[in-house]
Amino acid sequence: MTVLRKNLIDGEWLGEAGSRNINPSNTNDVVGEYASAGPEEAKQAIAVAKAAFPGWSRSGPLARHAVLKKTSDEIMARKDEIGRSLAREEGKTLAEGVGETIRAAQIFDFFAGETLRLSGELVPSVRPGVGVEMTREGVGVVGIITPWNFPIAIPAWKIAPALAYGNTIVFKPAELVPESAWTIVDILHRAGLPKGVLNLVMGKGSVVGQAMLDSPDVNAISFTGSVGTGKRVAAASVEHMRKFQLEMGGKNPLVVLDDADLAVAVDCAVNGAYFSTGQRCTASSRLIVTAGIHDRFVDAMKERLDKLVIGDALDAKTQIGPVVDQTQLKQDEDYIAIGRQEGAELAFGGERLERETPGFYLRPALFTGATNAMRISREEIFGPVANVIRVKDYDEALTVANDTPFGLTSGICTTSLKHATHFKRNSEAGMVMVNLPTAGVDFHVPFGGRKGSSYGPREQGRYAMEFYTTVKTAYTFAG
Ligand code: ADP
Repeated sequence: MTVLRKNLIDGEWLGEAGSRNINPSNTNDVVGEYASAGPEEAKQAIAVAKAAFPGWSRSGPLARHAVLKKTSDEIMARKDEIGRSLAREEGKTLAEGVGETIRAAQIFDFFAGETLRLSGELVPSVRPGVGVEMTREGVGVVGIITPWNFPIAIPAWKIAPALAYGNTIVFKPAELVPESAWTIVDILHRAGLPKGVLNLVMGKGSVVGQAMLDSPDVNAISFTGSVGTGKRVAAASVEHMRKFQLEMGGKNPLVVLDDADLAVAVDCAVNGAYFSTGQRCTASSRLIVTAGIHDRFVDAMKERLDKLVIGDALDAKTQIGPVVDQTQLKQDEDYIAIGRQEGAELAFGGERLERETPGFYLRPALFTGATNAMRISREEIFGPVANVIRVKDYDEALTVANDTPFGLTSGICTTSLKHATHFKRNSEAGMVMVNLPTAGVDFHVPFGGRKGSSYGPREQGRYAMEFYTTVKTAYTFAG
């Protein structure tokens, strides 16, 4: 029997079946049926979140700690089941699905702790007898709009700080992965959140998301998704004078220098470019390699890629799952065709694969002979496709790495302390990795980028407070 998951508005599960969730490893497998909210339900969710804000924002640390800690504990206890369901709806491997679920639990645990560490400042005024207090308060109703590639971690890293700092929420997950979103909301609801504090409105971005953008009662929006939608969020938020935070694309460089440990470089490149089927905004899609190691690197990459097991996400042996859906698959294939037309050489993969079940299987693609001017080097593909760009030395590598409209992550593989140090200082990215994949970050430190990748304060760790709170400066004359 197919499950029917409803929206949560004011503590009530509401709605009729509106959309189907399909397993990309086996398109005959329907994960479930989901409610699809319209603009009226979105407006209702915003109104109840507004009404719940005064109570929740004054609830105090213990009530918030209890909900967040309980949520973390339940997610951790159910990590295998939730991770499996995530892999089933999104197509990342079981290990990646369980790993992401553990990450969500860790994030809730971190922000549970943060509720007990809220603090302010008390300073003397320049006027004698006057005291000045600086405190942080919740912003109000926060709209949370999330993409499909991290179905539980991204909702967790937005919902947990929003609740920890006393905000109420209207949450619109991506249509392709509603099960993980529903699960996290169900757990939080049962953990004891007062009604109206967290509202789930599954549905179309152009309907539910747009209703959130257009509402004067949404005080802040945290968005992760495409550049195009991010710009709409920005424009609508300026119109309503609300806070907004955007995480968008990447075209992240991994520089490999002549002095790199070849095994480390290949590990970093294969992980960074192809794990999670390349569907990460932190993926290394540009492999910038100096001439002395270029041929050895390309040969070693082809050898490694040939050994990768591509298959059903739920099969424990699988290392690369399917692409998320038909639209993304078409985009990947279109870019592979564009790369060939532009004159890059398809050195490995790029073809559709047949497996036992109908699914969106694509062999990871490696281009060589790419230039940084080609579209495949400038536009985000969001699939298992990477380009090797040959450069003569470190200086050229750094110039090419920074020559991009994006700036989320960057990486360098080298045994030279001098080059590693220089790269960390001069790479125009929000996150820099030395001898590590460009994807794969800690949960307790800031996440975010520069240029076309991100806008607004950082997410995650204590830095998340900047977005989810507003500062109040209070003056007191005691007489
Ligand atoms: P992707 O290419 O990753 O699907 P999108 O930017 O289209 O990126 O989607 C990211 C999130 O933004 C999804 O939850 C989607 O439903 C939502 N979204 C899409 N269009 C709009 C819109 N006009 N207003 C608000 N949210 C939207």
